[in-house]
Amino acid sequence: MSHPLGHRAVILGASMAGLLAARILSDRFREVWLIERDALPRGAAPRKGTPQAVHPHGLLARGREVLESLFPGFTDSLVAQGAMLGDLGTEVAFDAGGHRLAVRHSGQPGLAVSRLAIEAEVRRRVLSRPGVQLLDETDAVEPVHDAARHRVTGVRYLRRDAGEGAPPQTVGADLVVDCSGRGSRTPTWLRAWGCAAPHEEQVAVGIVYASRYYVRDGAHAAGCGGLDKAAVICSATPELPRPGVLLAQEPATAGEAPRWVVGLGGYAGDQPPATPAGLLDYARRLGTPEILRLVEEGEPIGPVIRYGFPHSQWRHYERLAAFPAGFLVMGDAVASFNPVYGQGMTVAACEALALRDALTHRHGLDGLHRRYFRAAAQVVAVPWQLAVGSDLALPGVPGPRPLPVRFVNAYVARLTRAARHDARVAGAFLRVVHLVAPPSGLFAPGIVARVLWGGRRSRQPLRPEGTASGAPRAARA
Ligand SMILES: Cc1cc2nc3c(=O)[nH]c(=O)nc-3n(C[C@H](O)[C@H](O)[C@H](O)COP(=O)(O)OP(=O)(O)OC[C@H]3O[C@@H](n4cnc5c(N)ncnc54)[C@H](O)[C@@H]3O)c2cc1C
Repeated sequence: MSHPLGHRAVILGASMAGLLAARILSDRFREVWLIERDALPRGAAPRKGTPQAVHPHGLLARGREVLESLFPGFTDSLVAQGAMLGDLGTEVAFDAGGHRLAVRHSGQPGLAVSRLAIEAEVRRRVLSRPGVQLLDETDAVEPVHDAARHRVTGVRYLRRDAGEGAPPQTVGADLVVDCSGRGSRTPTWLRAWGCAAPHEEQVAVGIVYASRYYVRDGAHAAGCGGLDKAAVICSATPELPRPGVLLAQEPATAGEAPRWVVGLGGYAGDQPPATPAGLLDYARRLGTPEILRLVEEGEPIGPVIRYGFPHSQWRHYERLAAFPAGFLVMGDAVASFNPVYGQGMTVAACEALALRDALTHRHGLDGLHRRYFRAAAQVVAVPWQLAVGSDLALPGVPGPRPLPVRFVNAYVARLTRAARHDARVAGAFLRVVHLVAPPSGLFAPGIVARVLWGGRRSRQPLRPEGTASGAPRAARA
């Protein structure tokens, strides 16, 4: 360790954001404690504290890039476990705005793998770093502060095996990072300490997911209608606000069959049923042939499972005039996005880079929270704009739609129409969605011209209403 900034950093929550924070802090602190409520499994297994992790998780190209830079060999290791690595242009079928994007080699690798495997890989690597210690089965009760309440100085925590009535213990820290997810209690703690809580922006999407796993025969699922893709993505449209995704997944355990996972969503009270027949009916209406074929013919593994996500939220810590020193917030605890855009893990990874840069500043820990919250807000701003803008294109999502939002949504609708035939426009769209290029890339003169011409060529959406493959059949229960 070249320039240690302090003796101990303590992180609340050891999911993606907590682990990524630990990766960065282990370069600058002699000890990094991860306090986690759950008993953490050794491998890729579900747990109570992250119920979302069994649902499909797409890793954006930018997220994979950052994870690879923080953990060299990350991609290869997951591929060795059965993940599929493929070009985002040729190996991912993407129905955006009701139009299937034109196919061309994009040069951007995408990784189709379960969230459980991603987190297990990151966890294995982080826990092997010098100085990193895990206290699992332990509740972070609250941070503790100095008498003036200007600085957080440690954390009170309670081990689950402490026995009835045992008091919490306290560990001192030079830095505490709250990575406890969207239910984070930092706003409550701030109020209790006499500080202002952050303004919270919310967009009520009321999305409900139904997911199911299926056997994936052979590397490219030749047994399932000859599907030669690693993923199929179907975004919601104003006419049919039902997103869907199909992702290749590694085997649940070594030696078992590789899998597909399908996730279908509904907005604003339109809930996919948690039954095989209901899922099939939903898939029929979606009109994405690969998803329908899998739900009709695939060999299911386990039941249909559901997850409800009421609203996207962004807590604007960067706007607070006062915040205790020695304390930061990261990941879903800052911003939690409508999951259909697959942004959360990538945002956490980019916030980890923002934290690293903020720590590298010549003032070290002094003013760290201001530098970090400013940079984290910049990380959040683009994915938030993409997610919220797209959600506001759907009539069921409440919220004001000022002229710029309506203009951009009308332009994007035209762009996806052009992208059905124009691989260059499709490529520009993919780079923005995967956060490897800024949204301004969609308004580059060469793209605008192609959108204006190409958008006129094809007005018929590709996704028809009703069945996508003929007569109805029963799903396999
Ligand atoms: C249905 C769904 C699908 C999603 N799909 C995608 C996707 O496709 N791609 C993507 O990138 N992201 C996706 N996300 C978002 C992604 O799951 C999160 O952004 C990501 O997990 C980062 O979250 P986090 O680490 O900040 O919080 P979480 O993952 O919520 O973890 C919080 C951790 O803190 C622990 N904890 C909480 N309170 C305490 C306490 N008091 N003491 C100790 N420990 C505590 C919890 O046990 C948990 O381990 C999806 C989310 C949902 C809900």
